[in-house]
Order: sequence, then structure tokens, then C-alpha cells
Amino acid sequence: MSDNWDIICVGAGSAGLPLAIRAAERGAKILQIDADNRIGGTMHWSSGQIAAAGTRLQKEAGIVDSPDEHYEDAQRVAHGNIDPTVMRLFVDNAAHTIDWMMDIGFKPAAGTPVAGEAHEAYSTRRYLWGDNAAISILDAFRPVHDKLVAEGKIDLRLEHRMTGLVTNDSGAVTGIKADTPNGEEIFHGKNVVLACGGYAAGPEMWNELNPEIPLCSHCNPYSRGDGLVAARELNAQIDGKEKFLCTFAGYLEDPNDPTSGEFLVMSPKARNIWEIFIDVNGKRFMKEDHQSIDYRERSLLKQPGMRMNIVFDEGILMNASPLTMLEPDAYKAKFGNHPNFVKSDTIEGLAKELGVPADALSTTVVDYNAAVDAKKDKEWDKFFLIRKIETGPFYGIKSMGITVLSPEGLQVDDNLRVLNTSGDAIPNLYAAGEVLGFGRTSGDAFVGGLSLTPALAFGKILGERLLSW
Ligand SMILES: Cc1cc2nc3c(=O)[nH]c(=O)nc-3n(C[C@H](O)[C@H](O)[C@H](O)COP(=O)(O)OP(=O)(O)OC[C@H]3O[C@@H](n4cnc5c(N)ncnc54)[C@H](O)[C@@H]3O)c2cc1C
Repeated sequence: MSDNWDIICVGAGSAGLPLAIRAAERGAKILQIDADNRIGGTMHWSSGQIAAAGTRLQKEAGIVDSPDEHYEDAQRVAHGNIDPTVMRLFVDNAAHTIDWMMDIGFKPAAGTPVAGEAHEAYSTRRYLWGDNAAISILDAFRPVHDKLVAEGKIDLRLEHRMTGLVTNDSGAVTGIKADTPNGEEIFHGKNVVLACGGYAAGPEMWNELNPEIPLCSHCNPYSRGDGLVAARELNAQIDGKEKFLCTFAGYLEDPNDPTSGEFLVMSPKARNIWEIFIDVNGKRFMKEDHQSIDYRERSLLKQPGMRMNIVFDEGILMNASPLTMLEPDAYKAKFGNHPNFVKSDTIEGLAKELGVPADALSTTVVDYNAAVDAKKDKEWDKFFLIRKIETGPFYGIKSMGITVLSPEGLQVDDNLRVLNTSGDAIPNLYAAGEVLGFGRTSGDAFVGGLSLTPALAFGKILGERLLSW
């Protein structure tokens, strides 16, 4: 048994780091544990795109913006599905969070803020990032956090995995249990904050919460859903699975490992789309180069198993840039040598490799080639009609919707207290970050920055206010 901490923070990632820093700066006695052997969590993976209204950066660029406009704009993109309580708390605190990050060394990339980039655009320029994805944010936190740890103001324990919450007779949380290098330990504290991320790297948890959604994830391997498991023991309300949206698109590097997802480069902003996409019936099902990422994601979401096949020929392979992040030679070598990268000398053979009807695929290719000749795609209005699919070998990539975020999560009130299924706050238990569920902060769409920025903002809020609530 250890000391009685003011705050026990489970996780030293995007939410946990600002929390620990701000709490320690206010003199709180804080224990921070992380299952990993390093700090940073998903910041080691994330693109680091963040958003806020009313930042110093916006003001310096003459951009007039407000939390109310951010609220309305985000709900527009998310079809009104963002949790209103959480969104209100977020928009009112997001700008202070980014201003503070800049105070401690975060440098926005030149040209930011912008209205849109990877996702549907905002109506004004409030979207930004650093030069080195989310590592730019971690690099700003690290020296401040390191110093507080060195001064003994944050007791940081790495390779400590929380395995459960400890409660008293009246159900109030009084601490945590953790697997540590010394075996199981119990740590007692006045408040516990779950800042231990999502569950998209935990296939068991995923299959239990989202059995109908096939998993192809690319995320921090420590996102195993431990926070949800622990809070569920106390009857916490967990919801949001209906808000799932896949990212467009990826493939499983190891078909037997649902967490081995890798991205394909599919945005018409990043590369011309020379290829066609076909469904399980061998037919095209979408405008492959539609400018709206939301359209592309939803088109794929509707496919059985969120699966599609990308089809092209030798001429396209030789002339187009790779669809993977691999160098061209490594990319080309994958075909015929990886279960999801197939090739054949004939369209019929390719259909067999892809498991789609050969006559349907042949007709699809003939029709597409006619559209290229006519410079007009009457069926799907594809913009890039660059060359026909006519010279063998023919190639296919078995692709699917990829997951980087966990849709479900803990319900909280406007003080980030975790609520139970009756809607009551579980005493002394708080949560911040992806453990709240991506659906709670971003609805049923990818609203720019609305996972990482709420994690940062809610961590900062708890660090600053928890002890005075
Ligand atoms: C590839 C990718 C790109 C992304 N890009 C963006 C983007 O551009 N913009 C955006 O808004 N969002 C983005 N996201 C999502 C966003 O980065 C995350 O939602 C956010 O960083 C999560 O923060 P967190 O603090 O909740 O979790 P994390 O940062 O993952 O921190 C959780 C910490 O808890 C630790 N932990 C887990 N279980 C335990 C346990 N039982 N005991 C102790 N410690 C534990 C973990 O090791 C980890 O360090 C992206 C995600 C991915 C995967």
C-alpha cells in the first residue's frame, strides 16, 4: 500500500500529461502511472491535428472566431451527434489549451491554422498542427513534465498497468490496483482520473463492444480498453457504438492480426486516383476520387465487412505512385507475395484471386475502359480517367475500412465525473481523453482535431480544477 495521493492519474498520454503538469504546478500530490515504458501514449502515433476557436494564433492572423461558432460548426459536420455537455466544456477551453501549449514551446506549422485538411473542412481557419505530427506536442510537454518528475512533484511510475479500481463501502473510489514490476500493488488516492485511452488495440474488448464491425486497427498497442473494464465494474455508463465511422482505407498486414492495419494513400488530394474500387459483386460502388472524405468513408462503411478491392493493371502500376507508404520497389514486390496484394495475367484470374464473380469484373473493366475513351464516366462521374485497365498482369488490393479510434466510451458530466447507468456520478472518479469514446467528442464523423484536442483540454482542465471542485 502506498501514500494517499490527491490525484492518481492512470495514463501519461495526451490527456494525462497536461493533467499531471497543471496539477503538480498547483501543488497537488500526484501519482501518474503508465503501462508503457515511456510517456506520450498515442502522441507517438497521432497526426497531431488539433482545433480551437479564439486562439492567439487566430487573432494574430486576423481570424475572428468564437467557441459558439466552433460548437455549431462541429455539430454541423457531425450531424448534431456530439455530446452537447462535453462539446460545450471543450469549445470553451480549447483556445486556452493551445495558447498554453504555445507558451511552453509548441510551434504551429507555417500556414496554419487552416479550415480543412484530412477531414471535412470547418467554415473558418481554426485547424492546426506542428511540423512533426503529435510529437511536436509531446516535445513541448516533455521538458516541463521531466522537470516536475525530477523535482519529485509528479511521482511517475512506468510499466505500471492499472487492473482495477478500489472502492469503499459506500461505493466511492479510493484508489487503484496495478500490475507493477513488483507484482500487484494498491495505490490509494482522493481522486482517480482515467486517462488511459481507447480500446481499438484490444480485439477482445472490440469484439465484445462492436461485434458487427470488423477490426483493422492502426493505433497505440496500449489502447486496450482497461479504463472501460475498470469503470464497468462500478456500473459506469458506456455508450457510442452507433457513431462508428471507418477511416478510408487500409489493409491488414497480417490477416490473422486485427491490430496490424496499415493505411493506403487514397485521398485524391494526395495522389491521382488511377484505379477503380469494386465491391464483393465485382462492381464499382462509389466515385473513387470524390473530394469529400466523408462521402468516401460512408461509401465504404456501407459495404459488407467494410471491404473493397482496388483494381488496376501493369500500366497503372508502372506510372502511378504507390498506394502504400512503401517505396515503389517494395510496393511492387508485394503483389503475389502477400495475401492482400494479388495479381494475375487475366481479369478472370484476378477475379478469382479477389473472390468476386469473373463475368461481373470483366464487364466492370470493359465499361470503365469505355468511360476512359469517352472521357466521361456516366456511372460514377470519376474525375481521374487517366488510362484504361487493359494490360496484364492485372493487380488487386484487398482493402477495408481502417480504425484509429474507439467509438464507445464513458459518459461524464460537465466536471468530467464518470456517470453510472443511473446517471449519477461515481464519487471520486474522473475521465479524460479517448476513454470517453470518439463518438462523444466527434459524433458520427471525423471532425478535425476532435479527439486529440479534447484529450489535451480535458487533461488540462482536470489538472487545474479538480482539487477545487
Ligand atoms: C494514427 C492516428 C492518428 C490520429 N490523428 C489524430 C489527429 O490528427 N487529430 C485528432 O484529434 N486525433 C487523432 N488521433 C486520435 C488521438 O491522437 C487520440 O484519441 C488521443 O491522443 C488519445 O489521448 P488519450 O490521452 O486518451 O490516450 P493516450 O494518448 O493513448 O494515452 C493513454 C495512456 O494510458 C496508458 N495506459 C493504457 N492502459 C493503461 C493501464 N491499464 N494502466 C496504466 N496506463 C495505461 C497508455 O500506455 C497511454 O500512454 C489519431 C490516432 C491515431 C492512432
